[in-house]
Amino acid sequence: MKICIIGGGMAGIICAITAAASPENKITIYERQSSIGKKIAVTGNGKCNLSNRNVRDVSRFSSFDTDILKSFASDFDNDSCQAFYESIGIHTTYSRGGMYPLCGHAGSVVTMLGNRLGELGVRVVTDIYIDDIKESAGSYIVNNEKYDAVVLAFGGKAGIYGENSSCGIEIIKGLELTGVRPSPALTGIICKGDMKAISGVRTHAVVSLYDGDTHIYSDEGELQLADNGLSGIPIFNLTNHLPYNMGPDNDIKIHVDFAPEIIKEKLLEIFSESKKSYPDRSMSMVMLGILNGKLAGYILKTAGIEGEKAIKNVDDKVINNLVGLIKNHVFIYDSLRNYKNAQVMRGGVRLTEINGNYESKNYPGIFMIGEMLDVSGECGGYNLYFAYHSGRSVGQVLAGMK
Ligand SMILES: Cc1cc2nc3c(=O)[nH]c(=O)nc-3n(C[C@H](O)[C@H](O)[C@H](O)COP(=O)(O)OP(=O)(O)OC[C@H]3O[C@@H](n4cnc5c(N)ncnc54)[C@H](O)[C@@H]3O)c2cc1C
Repeated sequence: MKICIIGGGMAGIICAITAAASPENKITIYERQSSIGKKIAVTGNGKCNLSNRNVRDVSRFSSFDTDILKSFASDFDNDSCQAFYESIGIHTTYSRGGMYPLCGHAGSVVTMLGNRLGELGVRVVTDIYIDDIKESAGSYIVNNEKYDAVVLAFGGKAGIYGENSSCGIEIIKGLELTGVRPSPALTGIICKGDMKAISGVRTHAVVSLYDGDTHIYSDEGELQLADNGLSGIPIFNLTNHLPYNMGPDNDIKIHVDFAPEIIKEKLLEIFSESKKSYPDRSMSMVMLGILNGKLAGYILKTAGIEGEKAIKNVDDKVINNLVGLIKNHVFIYDSLRNYKNAQVMRGGVRLTEINGNYESKNYPGIFMIGEMLDVSGECGGYNLYFAYHSGRSVGQVLAGMK
């Protein structure tokens, strides 16, 4: 079978390596960059978080078509993913549930994947932007060549490609595929209001996403505060759970618990004890024992308490309000940071367009894989896992293994 894969990212590469198991397959990857796997090289802070022990947990992924996603996810399996990488010589190890290459270097993963493609005789054509596919009597014409199967693996706009990346959208339009409006995800959130006073603070927190009074998602980890918004892995993960197609009716807020280790009652007790034991101690000093100093000053100001004021002169009601601000500080969502700062593109081609083998329902012989589909995962290896899983599944179909 003559196969072409448009896009040499993780999804396209895994698909090619797998499909090449059948010696009858003649495979070409078309890649618009000067080399394949450029995004892989920047993943996981250069360490390439390939997968995660928890890939079966579908709540780590999001898609507009939740039920279809669940049916795909029933097949997610980290062990076979690990076995695959090991089988091609990319040995692996784990850190906090995330699977990484043993060599600890994303660039080496790209080199090894490229080498494997070479060993298997996969043709890689770089510096070519494919923007057209034509149907021709049961086959498809791509770049003036006839193919029996075409795999779309364009990826998304996030990260190194930036705002203006069209990521194969011309083809998607030509095929009239329905999509979910794309947006950046796994990125920072810009908030309303001036946050300069806490810019640069990093602190452990629980962050919760709300639309009005409806709780959507919570996560815990290191929160990073910037002069105009929130960032850090727990915030990145929240962005993967924002409502789709947000409009003026949405009322998005991020509730932050700055002291998740202590329950509210215990915190009240700490202030009450301080009042008894150190009545002349300033509120700033008391707060220093609980929170990061910069953050403490900001919260005191928000509560309308002068930092120099002795705790004995602060009314219990005011302290109660202060504790409320520590345990449940509300930031108002304004917008997301742009694609350049994002790790994934959320949205893309709807899962309703494909069958269980990632094959187009309307165009038999055309497959869609990876980030161009409306599936996005949290931080932790879930997106490279989905690229692997979808690429591997289609490769197996093309190699007659499924
Ligand atoms: C900074 C950063 C860090 C990340 N870290 C992690 C991590 O550690 N773990 C994790 O799971 N995920 C991570 N991700 C997300 C993950 O990298 C992607 O979800 C995944 O690589 C998507 O793979 P893909 O093959 O679907 O798409 P891509 O990697 O985007 O590949 C698509 C390829 O298609 C090419 N292309 C597009 N259109 C055309 C066209 N018309 N013609 C020819 N070629 C075309 C592109 O140039 C590109 O090479 C990270 C992302 C970023 C930006």
